[in-house]
Amino acid sequence: MLNRVLVANRGEIATRIIRECKDNSIETVAVYSEADKNSLHVILADRGVCIGAAPSSQSYLNVGNIIESAKNTGCDGIHPGFGFLSENPDFARICEEEGIEFIGPSPDVIGKLGDKSQAKKTMRAAGVPVVPGSEGAVSTMEEARQIASEVGFPVLLKAAAGGGGRGMRVAETLEEIESAYNEASMEAEKCFDDGRIYVEKLIRNPRHVEFQILADKFGNVIHLGERNCSIQRRNQKMLEEAPDFALSEEMRISMGTDAVKAAKAAGYENAGTVEFIVNGDDYYFIEMNTRLQVEHPITEMITGVNIVREQLRIASGLPLEFAQEDIKFSGHAIECRINAEDIFNDFSPSPGRVNFLHFPVGNQVRVESALYSGCDISPFYDSMAAKIIVCGNTRLEAVRRMRRALEETVIKGIKTTLPIQHLIMYNREFLRGNYDTGFVEKNMAELLKLYEEAGGKDESLQ
Ligand code: ADP
Ligand code: ADP
Ligand code: MG
Repeated sequence: MLNRVLVANRGEIATRIIRECKDNSIETVAVYSEADKNSLHVILADRGVCIGAAPSSQSYLNVGNIIESAKNTGCDGIHPGFGFLSENPDFARICEEEGIEFIGPSPDVIGKLGDKSQAKKTMRAAGVPVVPGSEGAVSTMEEARQIASEVGFPVLLKAAAGGGGRGMRVAETLEEIESAYNEASMEAEKCFDDGRIYVEKLIRNPRHVEFQILADKFGNVIHLGERNCSIQRRNQKMLEEAPDFALSEEMRISMGTDAVKAAKAAGYENAGTVEFIVNGDDYYFIEMNTRLQVEHPITEMITGVNIVREQLRIASGLPLEFAQEDIKFSGHAIECRINAEDIFNDFSPSPGRVNFLHFPVGNQVRVESALYSGCDISPFYDSMAAKIIVCGNTRLEAVRRMRRALEETVIKGIKTTLPIQHLIMYNREFLRGNYDTGFVEKNMAELLKLYEEAGGKDESLQ
């Protein structure tokens, strides 16, 4: 195994990785910004190195300082977590040049799959179904119009470099192409420094179903089944479950086989996720995320496979410990992403001090978080504060357990999305397992109203 790993991230994912390293006797180095000097990931790691001022551009995205810190502390591996530098091929390349193992796929693979329009080409060539649309990015507005007319409206204009649900706009008609194109491109330019756009047919209210992949350095590729991540707000996941409730065994086999095919076609190594959208019996590849995924714990709960440990093993040059037929699925898992956001103010970030904290415990309940009583949630970073994960023998058992886990959770001092997720656990469509990516838009006003009527806006009641 690697000897000493620098974790180039913060928040809950940094603590997840540091804890896993400790469990495997790997030393850890945390990096942190000036705003994060009292953060839990710094406290947990064997060493901490300050890499710059609070804005990410000066710290968590500061490649020079991170590489320098890894060299100065004698690290032989860097885990990028998710977000930040995790899908940056230049960072992976510099690690390689410096002789430090980047815990993820090769820079070429990250680059090839990071351009989502190119990734679709690779997948189509490998025989994996993709959403109809442009071949690669379009170079003019006219080309976008032409492709849209060919595939039929509505269409989505998507950023080739997109992620986190950003740089994506719907055009219902030919007339809407111009504004959708400009808005998507401007947002993509702002977020990713890359305004290139591709065109995709909009599949109305599909399910988002993704497959977890593990691939070692010896060409062994397996999948760990699927996750349904259709509860999304503005194309960002809020809650995930595994397995998907509506997949026939035939489709599961077909999609799993295609996910492995996709990873092999890309020359993939380490953990990754192949994302599909599903419409009835049809499924389409949308993208492959070349990193650990936020919702990886639900797959861990139903397979017993420790994905972060496997990442560390793969990067250490060890072969996968299991073949596809060794992977057995048991039970049903649900994860809620608890974001520090004000649900009554358009989910705007709600940073501040957590002055009291109580997390749920008990059978089949897991919490991933970097919070502690008295910690500060910084306004500088992503608002995800904790993940609450439960497992049950059946879906209903998992739902009941999630209800009680959320009821036990107390996070004082900041506003969080928890009340909405708690209400979703009682929603009829959710309970029936009859929902798609349109769920949040359709139900949010009602959920907010229910919570408000229950006194949720009245701070004195809380
Ligand atoms: P998924 O892993 O399911 O694709 P996201 O797209 O939401 O989920 O995950 C990537 C996002 O996570 C990034 O776009 C970024 O906004 C966010 N992110 C990056 N680093 C962190 C972190 N340390 N804690 C929480 N969120 C982060
Ligand atoms: P990101 O890179 O931001 O994660 P994705 O391409 O994975 O973007 O899409 C995010 C979400 O947007 C999907 O989970 C789905 O809900 C929606 N989406 C993306 N492409 C389509 C499409 N062609 N039709 C319908 N919904 C889509
Ligand atoms: Mg995605």
